[in-house]
Amino acid sequence: PLFDMRADDAVNYGAIGATIGHEISHGFDNMGSQFDGDGVMRQWWSEADRQTFAALGARLAEQFNAFEALPGKTVNGQLTLPENIADLVGLQIAFKAYQTSLNGKPAPRIDGYTGEQRFFLSFAQSWRVKRRDEHAQQLLISDPHSPPEFRANGAARNLDGFHDAFGTQAGDKMFKPVAERVRLW
Ligand SMILES: [Zn+2]
Repeated sequence: PLFDMRADDAVNYGAIGATIGHEISHGFDNMGSQFDGDGVMRQWWSEADRQTFAALGARLAEQFNAFEALPGKTVNGQLTLPENIADLVGLQIAFKAYQTSLNGKPAPRIDGYTGEQRFFLSFAQSWRVKRRDEHAQQLLISDPHSPPEFRANGAARNLDGFHDAFGTQAGDKMFKPVAERVRLW
């Protein structure tokens, strides 16, 4: 459901592209990075790199800890960290891949939206879901994935490309100051 032959490239990069990036990123998230290329549990990063990565991950966990999924119930930023890292990195690399695919030419405007806007709209649409609160609550304490709403918005608001695409400004719901955006790679 994340790929459509008839859709324009922006839509496919924003959906299946971000998912492919997500899966690749798991090799380098806070858990995957503890294994080397042969799947052996072995530290292969420099201590400085690992500390920097952990500090950025802690900032991302803080962001997700603040998301209220149900009244009075927030996302567990530590439980969901590997998946949130993968969502963020996957979106970022898919956006870069989309831009590269344009070969320096501007994307066509379709239905009034630029290619960059359609990329992010497609990403958000890929997370549409309907759940009962009881099920959402069960997942909130057991599922390492964040609730879909926050997978969409929590990743996008950290990308400069998102803010450029929509011209967000202070006061907008999705706005995040540059200094507060987390970029892992
Ligand atoms: Zn994942």
